[in-house]
Amino acid sequence: MSAEPVRGHVLILGGTTEARQLAAALAAGGTEDGAGPGTAAGSVPDTGSGSGSGSGSGSGSGSGSGTAARAALRVTTSLAGRVAAPVLPPGEVRIGGFGGPEGLAAWITAHRVSHLVDATHPFAERMSFNAAGAAALSGVPLIALRRPGWSPGPGDDWHFADSLAEAALRLPELGGRAFLTTGRMGLHTFAQLADTWFLVRSVDPPEAPVPPRLEVLLARGPFSLEGERELLARHRIDVLFTKDSGGSATAPKLTAAREAGIPVLVVRRPPVPEGVPETGSVPAVLRWLSEA
Ligand code: NAP
Repeated sequence: MSAEPVRGHVLILGGTTEARQLAAALAAGGTEDGAGPGTAAGSVPDTGSGSGSGSGSGSGSGSGSGTAARAALRVTTSLAGRVAAPVLPPGEVRIGGFGGPEGLAAWITAHRVSHLVDATHPFAERMSFNAAGAAALSGVPLIALRRPGWSPGPGDDWHFADSLAEAALRLPELGGRAFLTTGRMGLHTFAQLADTWFLVRSVDPPEAPVPPRLEVLLARGPFSLEGERELLARHRIDVLFTKDSGGSATAPKLTAAREAGIPVLVVRRPPVPEGVPETGSVPAVLRWLSEA
């Protein structure tokens, strides 16, 4: 049997679990088993051959010619290079910035990219706008794979801020022992808070300036509910600070905070570029690829 000719080149702007799931699904030939959270969040419906739906009629894109086309795709994931030892996805990987939308558009053209997927973190605001700009410049179709945000439920005591700077102003009103789960980037925003004690969880050690009273916990998720409960209790945490990173319906840290009756300060998501189709579902991206 001869190999399928390369029919395209997917560039995934990554740095997230969803980006790795997409790269893994494409490396596996576009099978959708276990790939992604499975809930569509935007304008791209998850009506293809998603796992377990049982809808036999589908659109025909899951196992027919669409899969054959996807199997022939070249896939490159791009990482910013913020993490010293990143978890690498299957397929080709490149690391480092492109040089703005123009640089990304030039890379797309030089490497004959046929499809662009913005699977960056919801708080990677600049890169999502760069992706939209580069898609417009190069004429390559773009989709955003963005995990759904979190919402408070019964028993939650959530407070919201629109930025890290606003959060730094509000945090002392809510507690004196803060569990900060927003990583090391942006920690300088809290450096002036001399009266607050911080437990900071990050993958790599933070760099100065940092708040004067802090303990750093180097760890990479996923985290268990049991572990989060224990952490809150051991450090006598009285406020949790998080970005609305989203993902599954809730996160263990949010559940643990609710159980402990601890307030949560949540940074709202930044704006996203207008007009870019968006989904929270890896299967929906696979379907888009087979149809685009
Ligand atoms: P950002 O502020 O939106 O982007 C800043 C610059 O970093 C971009 O202009 C771009 O440089 C470069 N860049 C960002 N993502 C890139 C990628 N996937 N590949 C190549 N270059 C990239 O991004 P950020 O908030 O610093 O996040 C950086 C990376 O960490 C992203 O990949 C994101 O998915 C991941 N991440 C971010 C967060 C968060 O809370 N922000 C959390 C978890 C993971 P050029 O203009 O030179 O191309």
